[in-house]
Amino acid sequence: MTLPALFVSHGAPTLAISDTPARRFLADYGAALPKPAAIVVVTAHWETDLPTVGGAAAPDTIHDFGGFGEALQRFRYPAPGAPELAARVAESLRAAGMVAAVDPARGLDHGVWVPLSLLFPAADVPVVPVSVQPRLAPAFAERLGRALRPLRDAGVLVLASGSLTHNLRALDWAAGDADAADPRAAAFADWVEAAVARDDRTALLAYRALAPFARFHHPTEEHLLPLFAALGAGGRGRRVHTSATFGTLMMDAYEFS
Ligand code: ZN
Repeated sequence: MTLPALFVSHGAPTLAISDTPARRFLADYGAALPKPAAIVVVTAHWETDLPTVGGAAAPDTIHDFGGFGEALQRFRYPAPGAPELAARVAESLRAAGMVAAVDPARGLDHGVWVPLSLLFPAADVPVVPVSVQPRLAPAFAERLGRALRPLRDAGVLVLASGSLTHNLRALDWAAGDADAADPRAAAFADWVEAAVARDDRTALLAYRALAPFARFHHPTEEHLLPLFAALGAGGRGRRVHTSATFGTLMMDAYEFS
């Protein structure tokens, strides 16, 4: 069984508890997937200079945000870790020429548990988080993803969690989930969709120069880097979900075969 490599936009932490199109997509998508042996999650909310892999046997739920209410601060995603798999992931990264470390104490940040709580609500699949490297180029994230690709043959789901667009200063909190995307967000999302559809990896890796409003949507790159990890971990891709929240925050998801 080989599962796809999956990129998801994790939105605001409230995605875990509010009824939105993106939430329904994640719940339905997860329900239709065969149960993975384990899940390796490249998360935008763990930024390091060099790749680091979480190796805790029982990772904590990290509440790395504020202002979203009590229920989310108390939310726990009690999935087990997988220390042996974490060691194997670090070894694969080293074999690909990277310097990689294991952090035996790292918990699950909300980039990990918000989508996983919807995809796999039973929390019974072992989870190994992997950091992103915002100081390095998208090509590095793509290489990191390529190193994870063989894990998929062992029934491991490679999940990459970020956000297709992520300009927190441009969010329109009043817009909510029902309204159409801001035209700048739609233009960027359409550009990515077209580049993925024609499997134009060169263009995708050069998105900062080529895509409309790229710097506007990604003043910093950490939330898009997981897309490149998923691209590296998979073959041809397709968009499996698109919706907007708060005007400019695109919730798009991509599956790579
Ligand atoms: Zn985020």
